[in-house]
Amino acid sequence: MQGPDAVAALAGELAAATRIALFTGAGISTESGIPDFRSPGGIWTQMKPIDFRDFIASEDMRREAWRRKFASDPTMRAARPNRGHRACAHLVATGRAGALITQNIDGLHQASGIPDDSVIEVHGNATYAHCLDCKTRYELEAIRAPFESNGTLPHCRWCNGIVKTATISFGQAMPQAEMRRAETEALAADCFVVLGSSLVVYPAAGLPILAKRNGARLVILNREATDMDGVADLVIHDSISDILGAAVGAA
Ligand code: NAD
Ligand code: ZN
Repeated sequence: MQGPDAVAALAGELAAATRIALFTGAGISTESGIPDFRSPGGIWTQMKPIDFRDFIASEDMRREAWRRKFASDPTMRAARPNRGHRACAHLVATGRAGALITQNIDGLHQASGIPDDSVIEVHGNATYAHCLDCKTRYELEAIRAPFESNGTLPHCRWCNGIVKTATISFGQAMPQAEMRRAETEALAADCFVVLGSSLVVYPAAGLPILAKRNGARLVILNREATDMDGVADLVIHDSISDILGAAVGAA
């Protein structure tokens, strides 16, 4: 479904719901200028992500990871929330959605006004770094200068652990508290809405199925088809900002 019919159908699903769970992926941020992974021309088609085990095992891989991070960081820092983010913020602020589960690492949901504790980040956050051992937080700017001047890799000043952006890489363990909260939200919802995710990255992609098996209506709003379209109650292949923005009347 697309266009005005999709707006009406989505508005109907949202109005009928008692408790909505929002689940976002990279697709909600493309209209803010951040490329996703799997759209045609997305990051995936240009370079393979660095696996966590390779990052830990090799200084060269860590240098490559930081080089990519600092090359892409100006884009992430310049990005501002779009109408899709604002529509989500409206649903949380009005209590229609209990919380928002995101696979994104760009901080744009918080920037759109959703309180930190209502954003469940299952893949972490790329706007800062932390020590993998003691979790002390480090700001990117403090890492950038020594890295760019002579390739110095960041280590923790307290425990000498490896410092990495606070994201969950492929091959890295999921954050347990966040995953538990996400599951609780999925099970509490009677309407689970997927926004801009190809639904291929597990275990996060198991959340819509968990909600659906528990009796929730499943709505997928994604430009391209996903493997879960067949089990969803409403499938919309259109722009998130246009369709969700209009369905909730967001500015
Ligand atoms: P993905 O790239 O696999 O899929 C994104 C989907 O969104 C695609 O199927 C695409 O058709 C759709 N899409 C793109 N723009 C859209 C729009 N404006 N309206 C509607 N649909 C749109 O993304 P994923 O499923 O989130 O998995 C990628 C992983 O990469 C995630 O775990 C995430 O952590 C990470 N990632 C995050 C960001 C970010 O934080 N902005 C960006 C790239 C990758
Ligand atoms: Zn440390």
